[in-house]
Amino acid sequence: MKTFLKNSQSKSDFDLRAQFQGLRRDVAYLDNAATTQMCQSAIDAMNAYITGGRSNVGRGLYPIAEETMKKYDAARSTVANFVGVDAGRCVFTKSVTEGLNAIAFGLRERLQAGDEILVSAFEHHANLLPWRRIAKERGAIVKTMPMLADFTLNLDRAKAMMNERTKIVAVTMVSNVLGTVLPIADLADAAHRVGALIVVDAAQAAAHLPIDVVDLGVDALVFGSHKCYGPAGIAAMILSLDLIDSMEPMIVGGGMVDHVTTDGATWRQGIEKFEGGSPNVEAAIGFAAALSLIAPPPYEGGGRGEVLRQRLVSDLQSISGVTVFDPPGAIGIVSFTIDGMHPHDVADMLGARGVCVRAGNHCAAPLVEKLSTTGTLRASLAIYTDERDIEALVSNLKEIVKKAKA
Ligand code: PLP
Repeated sequence: MKTFLKNSQSKSDFDLRAQFQGLRRDVAYLDNAATTQMCQSAIDAMNAYITGGRSNVGRGLYPIAEETMKKYDAARSTVANFVGVDAGRCVFTKSVTEGLNAIAFGLRERLQAGDEILVSAFEHHANLLPWRRIAKERGAIVKTMPMLADFTLNLDRAKAMMNERTKIVAVTMVSNVLGTVLPIADLADAAHRVGALIVVDAAQAAAHLPIDVVDLGVDALVFGSHKCYGPAGIAAMILSLDLIDSMEPMIVGGGMVDHVTTDGATWRQGIEKFEGGSPNVEAAIGFAAALSLIAPPPYEGGGRGEVLRQRLVSDLQSISGVTVFDPPGAIGIVSFTIDGMHPHDVADMLGARGVCVRAGNHCAAPLVEKLSTTGTLRASLAIYTDERDIEALVSNLKEIVKKAKA
């Protein structure tokens, strides 16, 4: 499966598309930043587990329960290894949103009045609102590391904003609006120099870029399955061993407790502390199978993903009235607007013509408001995207714009 980003239309491309039953619909699916189609290997792995007899984990002493536990553990190892860590640092959550909330909750007691949390101008609401909430509760301040005119992070300014009051740097790895790639290793280094923790939202990065949590030097990182060709309802929250020991769990109840007395309780050690309740075993199995399909992650630089994105950008730029936001080095995502046309109307018309794109503020209102008052249209690519998808979007858009001007 390593050939899919080669700049060619070879048989391997065809075979890859055949891995996705969802692509049988006669549409150009360009909303992959929201959710990708699910790969057959994930469906097959979940099907085999469910139809082979399932059980809960950690509780049963009979063979099916032991098999389930083994499968759940194996899935965790695969997911952890995908980002360069071992299973003891990987907590399953139901979504990236839940993981980021759990980290913010778990860190809140470290904050005092006047402490600062730095986020970037690129954050999805999932990596903004949890920090705003704990900041309000603790009297801390959320500050925004700004964007440059070319839609990349102002790294110099970001570094200059870090000081002894900075306690947490919470940042996305790839913008879900612009595809901008943020310099995570530089930010991690700068954060650690002032004694701050760095938390990374890798929701958009995981399907496109190789991630090594240790090389990046980050304290926490979250990524999810449904944007990586796996099922919805599961994500991985990767934590440093220090955070696993010291962070308070957000969810308490069965499965995470060590000892319950009449008026108190102690938590289990390690990652189990963060997995209260019955886990989504089938989704974990599907997540691992999907990651196995794309491991090692397709690197965009110079590969087919970059070629397709560049083609999309230049084709869109050739349509009169279209403004494309194209940060240098961006991956996978293209946002654009059309003079005099509301993005929702255009997305609606494209949808009726079999072209699936997203319109609006993409759950990143502070960023999108800087780009346009009515939101943007967003086309987002995946490993199975090909020239036909790009052509379908561009040719239909040309007709829609022509009709609107007539
Ligand atoms: N962060 C980013 C950058 C995203 O693009 C998304 C989803 O679009 C999320 C977080 C939230 O992910 P989920 O909906 O899986 O919780």
